[in-house]
Amino acid sequence: MLYVVVEEHSGILLNIYRCLTGDGYKIVSNQFGKRAGDNKTFVKLEIENGTLPLPPELEGKLLNISGCEDILYQEPTAETGETANASGSSHSNEQLKEKVAQVAKEIVANFSNVGPVVNNFTQSFQGTNNSSIVFMLGHQVGAMIYKKDYALGKPLKLEKALKRMLSQAISSFGKVSCNDRMISIDNSIFCNTANPNSRCDFTKGFMTGFLHQSPTTKEAKVENISCRCQGQMSCSFEFR
Ligand SMILES: [Zn+2]
Repeated sequence: MLYVVVEEHSGILLNIYRCLTGDGYKIVSNQFGKRAGDNKTFVKLEIENGTLPLPPELEGKLLNISGCEDILYQEPTAETGETANASGSSHSNEQLKEKVAQVAKEIVANFSNVGPVVNNFTQSFQGTNNSSIVFMLGHQVGAMIYKKDYALGKPLKLEKALKRMLSQAISSFGKVSCNDRMISIDNSIFCNTANPNSRCDFTKGFMTGFLHQSPTTKEAKVENISCRCQGQMSCSFEFR
């Protein structure tokens, strides 16, 4: 069973449905409830198609919906601040979201220094399942960079958006090459075998957030097909 803690507002359920069904999940039923103790609203979702726990990218996407506060796989009980949430950390999700938003702003303000800031952020969650948090950070930064530097002009179709905009936006991440619907990054500053906890999460989040800002690529799917952390030559991504 999937439980999403939400701020009460109309339309949120629709957004949650869109997000899950877009990734092939089939929801059989939904039921709103109140968490004992703090009276927070949650929605209980019965899933027929698709596995739980959700993959980190999907958790990240759900948490990016305005009003979605936490994802749980057991009936929510009163928040103590110490219970592990979807991120596996002891931060409450609201604090976490604030932190992510703050770090995202910091990165955008000084984008040439993105590497150390992201790596510090990732390391501050070391030992926990930080994939979805780092993805969420990348997603926000990607969206902000698109709005700041690329939103003017005619929206480009996927292949052109990859070549003319996204490749340029991530040029400080490593040596970027783009071919048709594929992007490879040699020597990604976020990924190396010396740090097995590093992964392409930030880059993948960035690409997703960036592309989803444009009407022509808002449905684009990003797949991480290789990563230097796993000993491969480069970090590469396929888009559809
Ligand atoms: Zn990688």
